[in-house]
Amino acid sequence: MEIIRTPAAMTAWANRILAAGQTIGLVPTMGFFHEGHLRLMRTAKEKADHTVVSLFVNPIQFGANEDLGKYPRDFSRDCQLAEAEGVDVLFAPGVQDMYPSEACTRVMVSGLTDVLCGASRPGHFAGVTTVVAKLFHIIKPQCAVFGKKDFQQLAVIMRMVADLNWDVEIVGHPIVREPDGLAMSSRNTYLSGTERQAALCLSRAIAHARRRVREGLVEAEILLQEVEWLLQQEAVTIEYASLVDQATLRPLAVLQKGVVLALAIKVGATRLIDNDTLFEEH
Ligand code: AMP
Repeated sequence: MEIIRTPAAMTAWANRILAAGQTIGLVPTMGFFHEGHLRLMRTAKEKADHTVVSLFVNPIQFGANEDLGKYPRDFSRDCQLAEAEGVDVLFAPGVQDMYPSEACTRVMVSGLTDVLCGASRPGHFAGVTTVVAKLFHIIKPQCAVFGKKDFQQLAVIMRMVADLNWDVEIVGHPIVREPDGLAMSSRNTYLSGTERQAALCLSRAIAHARRRVREGLVEAEILLQEVEWLLQQEAVTIEYASLVDQATLRPLAVLQKGVVLALAIKVGATRLIDNDTLFEEH
């Protein structure tokens, strides 16, 4: 596996691959890999001739009071894991390479970014879409794989790609969970033993919601009350619990195909998100 550190070297590599008539699959990440990241890499490998994983803890998507400084990092372990997956290139640029001091451009998607995580993390999605747009230009992928764990991010990126007529296929990968149901996340390392137990209320609430829909419940308001009650049984703070359409992110009053239960809570100092579609089989 090649480790590439600068945008110019990365684009030179991409140009060579494309000139040979081959395709590139990209998995954008912030590193500290877990099984969720590795599954995304496997999917990218199936979709394209060459796989590039970007590893960049993107400062502009963190708010001033967020965890940029303590975000977990382990570059040598990440290299070993990516290499074992058969990744061709790990693109790990420095902050100055991505954002030279003269840079003053942001890519922003409106509307979709004002709700859910966007409401409590102003500027977050502009940071995400800016870095993803830059990665797409630098790496020139034909396909890029994102996790449904960050389902709002996936919706925002799909919107950006459609709106800007970008010729890149966006693939959404299902959420990868621990055996007890907790959605894998690099941030799970922040949790103490008791916090981790409390965090299981997220997957319990989702399982409950899916069961209630199977039983025929159609009123979103009733389901939200039940979900909030379940979450409140643990020592967590609810940031939001919403039933929204998966593409428009608008709240739905009636439970129907395409509805997503989206949850964000704080367990101690750690912010966790989870979600699931309620009708689709998996
Ligand atoms: P991150 O390094 O946390 O920015 O995540 C990089 C990519 O991995 C994003 O597309 C995430 O949505 C995805 N991802 C993170 N955790 C999971 C998970 N548990 N299941 C599926 N995808 C995930």
